[in-house]
Amino acid sequence: MKIRTRLAQAGGEPDPTTGALVPPIYASSTFERDADGSYSRGYVYSRWANPTRTRLEETLADLEGGFAAAVFPAGMSAIDTLLRTLDPGDHVVLPDDVYHATRQLLREVLSGAGITFSEADFGNHEDVIRAVRPETRLIWIESPSNPLCKISDIRAVVEGLPHRDVEVVVDNTWMTPLLQRPFELGADYVVHSMTKFLSGHSDVLAGAVVTKRDTERFQRMQHIQRIAGAVASPFDCWLTLRGIRSLGARMRLHCENARRISGFLDDRPNVSRVHYPGLPDHPLHEVARRQMDDFGAMLSFEVEGDESDALRVASRVNVFRRATSLGGTESLIEHRASIESKPTSTPPTLLRLSIGLEDADDLIRDLDKALNTVTRY
Ligand SMILES: *Cc1c(COP(=O)(O)O)cnc(C)c1O
Repeated sequence: MKIRTRLAQAGGEPDPTTGALVPPIYASSTFERDADGSYSRGYVYSRWANPTRTRLEETLADLEGGFAAAVFPAGMSAIDTLLRTLDPGDHVVLPDDVYHATRQLLREVLSGAGITFSEADFGNHEDVIRAVRPETRLIWIESPSNPLCKISDIRAVVEGLPHRDVEVVVDNTWMTPLLQRPFELGADYVVHSMTKFLSGHSDVLAGAVVTKRDTERFQRMQHIQRIAGAVASPFDCWLTLRGIRSLGARMRLHCENARRISGFLDDRPNVSRVHYPGLPDHPLHEVARRQMDDFGAMLSFEVEGDESDALRVASRVNVFRRATSLGGTESLIEHRASIESKPTSTPPTLLRLSIGLEDADDLIRDLDKALNTVTRY
């Protein structure tokens, strides 16, 4: 069945005992043994596995076309647990504009375990391949990237790998499996912050790692998760499944609104640059068309002038909400350089938008009015 059908019915089969269409929330931390001491029903203790979490994991593996998934209480705990499978001396290649907490985790926490990293311009796959060393074990792709919306040619990176010990991870948070399926492009793991579009209503923190094959690294990661306990609660798993069922409809409107707003900003005086892969003058627009089904709902733009002008625009909006995060029903505006740890390569005049489900006319009027406050005649 097509992905929109699978999304609309995510969570699967009706409950066998009651016929309930919506899967129940299994709040139990522990499960009963049989009289002979065995666990014939498969569940022992919820740190190990929980039926609500299992439903979500099976759904994600199906949507991405992978072998299995593991669900975490945040995108960052998913990323952390995957990276903790690395050994001292192992090396990771990161985008130079990677999600700032991923870089912070490697720089400030995992460096203590002897894990090293270097950065490359992922808008240029040859630059990525040049950064690979004999001890490189993972290449970390975010496409589109945050907040500059750079596109990485995932297939070109996979095909250019100089040795077989490197695996490719794609952080697919901004696209979701509806818009981009990294396994079809050769990736080995997909990571999600389900806090964003997958749950979709700004009311859950959750993350996931999906694996394409039954790998040693995935097994080791699951082992670490089950011992260390970074597991999402049954309620958060349930909320995420609930959000996933409307992803197909939401994403259509998210993308349509983003397309209109990117066009408006592109033509607007006082805006010096718009970063959106759907614009024909985006440097990797053709790659984006090839590897994504649509261009997503995240864009950023640079206000002409200096940092204070950008901050003024952000301060004058009424429909957009000033907040970090993305992927909810409400549109958000954010001055990214203020929230990222220093040093950051994010331009001080850059504002990032997460386009929500409002009427695009209202969003455009709101931005137009805010931009008028920095117009210099
Ligand atoms: C938000 C985000 C994360 C981190 O996820 P949390 O759920 O906040 O822990 C990681 N990667 C990307 C691309 C994100 O947008």
